Amino acid sequence: MKGNALELKAVTRAYGQVTALGGVDLDVAEGETVAVLGPNGAGKSTLLSVALGLRAPDAGTATVLGGAPLEALRTGRVGVLPQESGLLEDVRVGELVSAVAGMYPGRPDPGRALRAAGIEELARRPVGRLSGGQRQRVRFALCVAGDPELLVLDEPTVGLDVTGRRALWQEIRARTARGRTAVFATHYLTEADDYADRIVLLAGGRVVADGTPAEVKALVGGNEVRFALGGADPAELEGLPGVRHVSVTGRDVRLRTGDSDATLRALFAACADVRDVRVESVDLESAFVTLTGGRD
Ligand code: ADP
Ligand code: MG
Repeated sequence: MKGNALELKAVTRAYGQVTALGGVDLDVAEGETVAVLGPNGAGKSTLLSVALGLRAPDAGTATVLGGAPLEALRTGRVGVLPQESGLLEDVRVGELVSAVAGMYPGRPDPGRALRAAGIEELARRPVGRLSGGQRQRVRFALCVAGDPELLVLDEPTVGLDVTGRRALWQEIRARTARGRTAVFATHYLTEADDYADRIVLLAGGRVVADGTPAEVKALVGGNEVRFALGGADPAELEGLPGVRHVSVTGRDVRLRTGDSDATLRALFAACADVRDVRVESVDLESAFVTLTGGRD
């Protein structure tokens, strides 16, 4: 039977006066690819580090692969790509990846991790001489070196060029296609949309949406119906099918809707003197900023 790869229950965590997590529940099933999406400061890194047992929650519990998070880390069942982490500078890339792979049960082939991260040709290069993007590729190689069941990646594509991003996602997808689990933090909606089965939208340390990319996009996106109407009644417009948000400025009316066809049909039936109708799709990135930015 498939269990949960990750379980957070009522997790809170503050840093002094700052509430980084304000009561988060999250279950990630084995085989799922989940994006933890949110703006800077939303609590993504705190959530991942509590989930991994690297930071203690103030309250609540974290379980990884059915046990204590640190136990799963120690036994090599979890691969981690932290947002910020130092690397040994004086060793060669190949030596570092081999050393890390050698610490895991079964001693997986380090060449596989080097290939997965696209850094075979850097194997003899000292880590201290690498560029930022190359270092990020090395971190990714270390993350997959132990052939883990669960991947936890914090903003993994930061600093990577197009080729590096493609290699990273190809490797993650190859793993999840074989039933492995991946949880990654990102502040890019498109990245979450492209690579996750499920998006957990975090803002101000709380989960504000949790669903498939289509469900989350429907929440933040949809269409805007604009028109001119004298004496518009916002309450009446809010009652039209599909309408999620109404704004009226003089004669200028804007309706945010998840179903513009249904909204328009009902609008014309209800208000005969609607003029100058336009339908525009809401830009997803800006809608996302509106949804998450309004909270603290
Ligand atoms: P994200 O990864 O989504 O950008 P973080 O989890 O890093 O968010 O941070 C959440 C909040 O907690 C932010 O307001 C951040 O400034 C604060 N924070 C994070 N780490 C610390 C720390 N070590 N000390 C004090 N405040 C912190
Ligand atoms: Mg972070």
